Amino acid sequence: MTARPVAASFAGVEPLTEDAIRGSFVNCSKGEAARIKLPAGPVPWADLDFLGWTDPSAPLRALLVVPGESGPTGVLLRRPEPRRSAFSRSSMCKVCLTGHGASGVALFVAPLAGPAGRNGNTVGEYLCSDLACSLYLRGKRQPKMLLTRYEETLTLDERIARALTNLTAFTERVKAG
Ligand SMILES: [Zn+2]
Repeated sequence: MTARPVAASFAGVEPLTEDAIRGSFVNCSKGEAARIKLPAGPVPWADLDFLGWTDPSAPLRALLVVPGESGPTGVLLRRPEPRRSAFSRSSMCKVCLTGHGASGVALFVAPLAGPAGRNGNTVGEYLCSDLACSLYLRGKRQPKMLLTRYEETLTLDERIARALTNLTAFTERVKAG
């Protein structure tokens, strides 16, 4: 099976400007987008297929900015509170398919775009809890406790393309409202 890229990767591409990041969000108001704190510290753009971070001023707020043919799509997410026993012992990120133990995967919830979201409708996805799928794919970060090893025959480029396909499917669900 060959995964085909649906979107250009950020890897090797010019870093996004703050304006481009703030202007990309599809499921929050302009005011909310303006208040989001950008990633603290240097961003490893050369190793990123998408940008994912936790708002340094709001630990339960997470952000994704995913590249696409018509420009980046930003999605605001809520992560579960750490005390809630929402974590399974072992689970897999639905985007990069990295197997994690304990709290390495979390269910992120995104308000839908437009009126549906304002009425409280959401969509959720299980993702690496640090949103560092790009680094796991490249072996630059390791799961803390690897309980299941998924046998991969795909190349890195194919796995990156698959992750972007999966992630774009999620952001499209959010955007559709
Ligand atoms: Zn992941």
